[in-house]
Amino acid sequence: MNAKQIKDTKTFLSKPKNIVIITHWSPDGDAMGSSLGLYNYLIQLDHKVNVITPNDYPSFLCWLPGNKKVTDFSKNPKSGKSLVAKADIIFCLDFNSLKRIDLLGNEVATSTAIKFMIDHHQQPDDFANFMLHNVQACSTCELVFEFMQLMGHKKMMNKHIANCLYTGIMTDTGSFRFPSTTAKTHYIIASLIEAGAENAEIHNRIYDGNTEGKIKLLGFSLSEKLVVMKEFKTAYFYLTESELLKYNYQKGDTEGVVNYALSIEGIRFAAFLVERDGIVKMSFRSKGSFDVNQFARNHFGGGGHKNAAGGMSESGMKKTIQKFESLLPEYKTQLNRK
Ligand code: 5GP
Ligand code: MN
Repeated sequence: MNAKQIKDTKTFLSKPKNIVIITHWSPDGDAMGSSLGLYNYLIQLDHKVNVITPNDYPSFLCWLPGNKKVTDFSKNPKSGKSLVAKADIIFCLDFNSLKRIDLLGNEVATSTAIKFMIDHHQQPDDFANFMLHNVQACSTCELVFEFMQLMGHKKMMNKHIANCLYTGIMTDTGSFRFPSTTAKTHYIIASLIEAGAENAEIHNRIYDGNTEGKIKLLGFSLSEKLVVMKEFKTAYFYLTESELLKYNYQKGDTEGVVNYALSIEGIRFAAFLVERDGIVKMSFRSKGSFDVNQFARNHFGGGGHKNAAGGMSESGMKKTIQKFESLLPEYKTQLNRK
């Protein structure tokens, strides 16, 4: 954002507006944390603020302050459409392509509202009037923190916002361990704790609310569903729909499983493939120079970050695995590079 854009945004937000905040399909901790953090900030300026998600999200995120104000578009398309139609400004958080919000994408594309993207993923599409976009940011929550500063509202930070932003920074940095974690991340975290973020309690709420089914599904994945391909420094898990059913799968139960594949010594590329409603959703992670954003974009209609991305396939599990494995020789040199 340049100085003029900052000034224009300040002027725009200085009078009460109808604001809609939208985040990506299958929202994660950063998507919900940034959206509800921004929500808890903007309501202090007397705006009418609503958060819309394209579909539902894991129950371990439902304690976030403001959660009751969230409209799930897949369950309430009518009220979602009417909220978007009435909006003066639409904040698009933690995504940068309208493809990432499914049917909501049409509503946003045809809306006359100002569109404001706050995001840290690679290669943003050109649909927003304003962008606070930085691929170096560890999370969209970090950018929401900066947005409040740019608006001159640092003092409006409160415990609710701090809890939301802490959650997104913690989840997107793998609890402050990924290379995206910088000194700046820790400065922001320190200031969120000073503002009342309940850091230890947040770790509890996010990571220690596991069901028996989730832990058993993890055990099953680790012992039965891991494929290691040493030659390509690659390891992946795959789970079918019936396996999910057997372990009473709930949304969010497989989040983070992919990291176990990446934790094997020598592995630089990890994937997690899961089949639901006939679609194979894929999570990709890498260490070092191997660019999974590009891999996901080139082969599985997806995208994300250099070291964490996702994509999907409609060809069924067997064919998707065949395609995935057949692509690896093409990348052998890259995968063997540091
Ligand atoms: P995850 O594997 O945790 O679902 O996603 C990893 C990263 O890739 C996240 O930042 C997420 O927003 C992004 N991502 C996941 N799936 C997709 C996808 O289908 N398309 C795009 N563009 N990004 C994705
Ligand atoms: Mn994010």
